[in-house]
Amino acid sequence: STMPPLLSAIANAGRHGVLAKSAVVMERLGEVDTVALDKTGTLTEGTPQVTDVCPLPGSGLGEDALLALAAAAEHPSEHPLARAVVTAARERGLPLAAVDGFTSTPGQGVSATVDGHRIVVGAPLRPADGDTAHREAVAALEEAGRTAVVVLRDGAPVGVLGIADRLRPDAAATVAALTRLTGRTPVLLTGDNARAAERVAAEVGITDVRPGLLPQDKVAAVAEWQARGRKVLVVGDGVNDAPALAAAHCGIAMGKAGSDLALETADAVVVRDELAAVPSVVCLSRTARRLVL
Ligand code: ADP
Ligand code: MG
Repeated sequence: STMPPLLSAIANAGRHGVLAKSAVVMERLGEVDTVALDKTGTLTEGTPQVTDVCPLPGSGLGEDALLALAAAAEHPSEHPLARAVVTAARERGLPLAAVDGFTSTPGQGVSATVDGHRIVVGAPLRPADGDTAHREAVAALEEAGRTAVVVLRDGAPVGVLGIADRLRPDAAATVAALTRLTGRTPVLLTGDNARAAERVAAEVGITDVRPGLLPQDKVAAVAEWQARGRKVLVVGDGVNDAPALAAAHCGIAMGKAGSDLALETADAVVVRDELAAVPSVVCLSRTARRLVL
């Protein structure tokens, strides 16, 4: 065809299931030498399942009451963990109470008023936060490679949920292809706990794992590499990834499970839900650049 190389690269990327938002992206993708991957929803399928429902002694709650409370608070959230909690409650036929004053903190969790109580569902408390009643349950779940989510009622822990997610079938092959293309093994940036992160990393061949990161920590990692002259590609799906997607030389969002904010912020979107499309478009970009330069 007579199309300019970068425009035909955009068309080719589309054939691979990647929507590139500009010709500049197709140019930049070929320059990346460092890749940072998110875990939940990026290396994993992003449709996690609740595996454990553990009310704490003294909470006065049974399994169903705990799950119903958590699901009511999570209902307005688009986070994959929130969807897992709501789905589990629906599967048990539990009614969801209406909520007031919903707020969410990316990388941490949600908060809402349910039946007059302030309910928080989110990442386990830091040791500085005192209460140790829930700590054993969290440790046991994380030991098993689960993501542990804590439920607080009016500030006190009342239960812990265990959640697990499946790896994408093409995750390991994608990591291998990106390693070959850039000469560096991708790095895992995640808000999840170290054990769950390391388990996924080991399965896909990643050795550099940065767990427990807040959205701004993901940005800091990207900024540090770029200050040393690296050109970073970030691949993510969540609201928590949006700042890092924006800070990177190139940001790609996973389209199917991706949050609206990630899709808006990214330079390109994987619309066909295949992670392996990422190394494919890096290759395409390199070919197009050779034709242009
Ligand atoms: P990742 O970086 O792996 O995609 P996130 O940054 O989205 O993970 O979340 C980090 C952690 O914050 C989760 O492992 C969980 O403990 C907690 N969290 C975030 N959002 C929610 C939510 N809606 N419900 C419960 N926990 C949440
Ligand atoms: Mg994610």
